[in-house]
Amino acid sequence: MTPGGSNSADRDLRRRAEAVIPGGMYGHQAVGLLPDDYPQFFKGGDGAHITDVDGRRYLDLMCAYGPNLFGYANPVIDAAYVRQLGQGDALTGPTGLMVELAEAFVAMVTHADWAMFCKNGTDATTMAMMTARQHTGRKTLVLARGAYHGAAPWCTPRPAGTTAEDKANQVFCAYNDIASLEAAVAKAGDDLAAIFAAPFRHDAFIDQAAPDIAYARRARELADQTGALLVVDDVRGGLRIARDSSWSVMGVQPDLSTWGKCIANGHPISAMLGNDKARKAAASIYVTGSYWYAAAAMAAGLETLRLARESDYLERITGLGERLRTGLAERAVAAGFGFRQTGPGTMPLFLFDDDPDLRKGFCWSSAMLAKGVYVHPWHNMFLCAAMTEGDIDFALDAAEQAFQTLKTQAHDLPPVEKLAFLSAR
Ligand SMILES: *Cc1c(COP(=O)(O)O)cnc(C)c1O
Repeated sequence: MTPGGSNSADRDLRRRAEAVIPGGMYGHQAVGLLPDDYPQFFKGGDGAHITDVDGRRYLDLMCAYGPNLFGYANPVIDAAYVRQLGQGDALTGPTGLMVELAEAFVAMVTHADWAMFCKNGTDATTMAMMTARQHTGRKTLVLARGAYHGAAPWCTPRPAGTTAEDKANQVFCAYNDIASLEAAVAKAGDDLAAIFAAPFRHDAFIDQAAPDIAYARRARELADQTGALLVVDDVRGGLRIARDSSWSVMGVQPDLSTWGKCIANGHPISAMLGNDKARKAAASIYVTGSYWYAAAAMAAGLETLRLARESDYLERITGLGERLRTGLAERAVAAGFGFRQTGPGTMPLFLFDDDPDLRKGFCWSSAMLAKGVYVHPWHNMFLCAAMTEGDIDFALDAAEQAFQTLKTQAHDLPPVEKLAFLSAR
């Protein structure tokens, strides 16, 4: 069976999905955002690998877009989850695990005096927005243009189905640009409720950027001067930069931080953490959900945090990230490509020079997939602690061949229709 062949189980599911799922798929897996030969449906994951519905197994550099930190189907974390399932999950109220998990976060994250749990990262960022507005009695948020904070009407990156009012009271600045941050804060005037910051620039389609320490410090100062809250959105970066809030490595402590994705290694739970300043406001907003007190994901979260504290996972994935980056750089140069690797090594993004609509990136990514490595052509990727040096070397061998494939096809690549808008930027 050829990858993505017309008789594949994936093609069959896609055809059926078209009938019963609007657009065949939605959100970040919407049809057309990845090369055609990428599978849309999977049957499982183990450690650092995923297996698609046609039985092809890939080294997975996406890690479920972040949630996989300690390996898919991690036996220790999943055992804790399953044990709790056997004792009840969504009950009339929470179990003591909720308090234990809050204690674990407060002990681990410097700025945090308390924690609240929810299900998705968007829940956490929305709670942070509400907490800041309640705390200050003001409305305006300062956000970095292009930064992703979730998919609720106030923050979703696409306008369909939203109104101008949903996005009212927001002022935008350019990430890492102090003058633009100051101008945005000035524009918010005496109505500033919060400054939101990604731990580093991890917007889709463009090079990632480390936070400028002067920018981070200025954001802290401006929040202090105006009485607004500083929110660091660690939903994506959390636990892959530090065992603490990601800006703590620069000595900058937010008032609120938001977490999700990997904090229970893929089990559904997210969190907002905050300091005492914000405690009263956080206690007064009405936020909840049918599954928010469910215990099994909390059990998984406790095990995940324990592994984060007690293992050298961060040092290991940092080392693996360096090995990958160095090896890819050598191979790209040898093949004659301008190949940009940006962001932390644990969360890399790859873009080719002179590739406005990403047709080179699509070709190279498809060639990687054919060699058994799942990479993403325009979104940052993630390393996980289940990866080994052997896996990285496997990816490097694949890359060497993928650069050769790209070289033979580079002059005659089809445009990427769904991403044509990128060329117009
Ligand atoms: C993914 C993400 C969110 C939203 O999290 P969901 O669980 O998808 O709702 C918010 N902020 C950042 C930085 C993210 O990467």
